Amino acid sequence: MGLAERNTPRWRRDLALTACCAAAVAEADRTGDPGQRAARLIDCLGVLRSTHRAGAAAALDMGALRRGLRLGLAPLLPADGEYGDPLGEMRLLDQDGLLCDAVEDLGREHLVPQQALMEYWPWARLRAEQEEQQLYAEIRRLPPEDYAKVRELLASDPVAEQDVLWEKWGGLWGRFGFFEPVSSWPWCNVAGWCFPCPACAWPMRAQSAGGGVFVVSCDAHLLEGVQYTCRQVRRGSGPPALEGGGWSADRVKGFPAAGDYLAVSRTVWRYLTLPGRMEFAIRDALTGIPGLDIFMYPDGDRYDLRITAADPLVAKQWRVDAKAWRSFTALADALLERPVLGGAVPLTIVVPHRQRSDLPLLESCLAGRPDLEVMTDEDIVGEVRRWCRGES
Ligand SMILES: [Zn+2]
Repeated sequence: MGLAERNTPRWRRDLALTACCAAAVAEADRTGDPGQRAARLIDCLGVLRSTHRAGAAAALDMGALRRGLRLGLAPLLPADGEYGDPLGEMRLLDQDGLLCDAVEDLGREHLVPQQALMEYWPWARLRAEQEEQQLYAEIRRLPPEDYAKVRELLASDPVAEQDVLWEKWGGLWGRFGFFEPVSSWPWCNVAGWCFPCPACAWPMRAQSAGGGVFVVSCDAHLLEGVQYTCRQVRRGSGPPALEGGGWSADRVKGFPAAGDYLAVSRTVWRYLTLPGRMEFAIRDALTGIPGLDIFMYPDGDRYDLRITAADPLVAKQWRVDAKAWRSFTALADALLERPVLGGAVPLTIVVPHRQRSDLPLLESCLAGRPDLEVMTDEDIVGEVRRWCRGES
């Protein structure tokens, strides 16, 4: 994300898009306190108005904001020049008032930097890396064994009944606001049932395709073919059966979207569960190779996985940090803000294999940082195995 100069047309448009995304998130969020939600919408409207000239700003009221989010952003974006805005037709909420997929990408790509935003928006905590930092700050103070246990549990059990979680977490349960009741999430609910993704175990998105048919897919693993259809069934007759999909539908068992079932929040899933599952999969794929030493969370949270090969001639080490960010541009920005790492071993940023086509983009963004290298989860496993066989 390049930083636009203040008060240029580009700056005003980015600020307006940021306000629209934040308003859509507030409008779609039916879980929080209604008063707080209204206050957030009023804040968004205030920011949006500040991006328009006085005459146009006066016409922007709450009704116009709500309509624009559902029908198209054109009336909400500041008009500059004679051409319509290319994003003018974009809708951020669907007919059911649920967030469209566009919001996340749009938000990351056009978000105004936090520091500037704070002048307009004291509660804003929107930028991805700041959300991620906040999560880590909550668990960083734990003793090393507890830190490792929390990281492992968030990866292994992102959804479970409260009793099960309570037992697994023991004395650590209740100290963090990581879990939310699945019953409060309309976006993953098919007639009272919810389906865990076969790849990451988190609830899959359920979208009505009309005629009682739902499309059920994982926001992260759709690219790997995790998509099914199912028919709505009468209540009381058990979970509907999933059909089709690149992955075996038998592996997916629905569970009731009821109060006892808790799932990690979307932020925790994105920044802790998804990378955690990649790290454990890398560890498992390399376990048992003679002379290879693998250590999870060796150095607090500076990186997550240390792999050491005790070659008789040259020992080799990898320091791995997995990242499952949706946008590589935002990830590159966050990585570039990190202080340069000392020592001879670079930090290997590992990203999901499904995002491999965007790897050159990430590599070019990080070209000036020899302390950082990037590869996919499959590539690092292959590289370590080749090293251990003496092939590289
Ligand atoms: Zn998934």
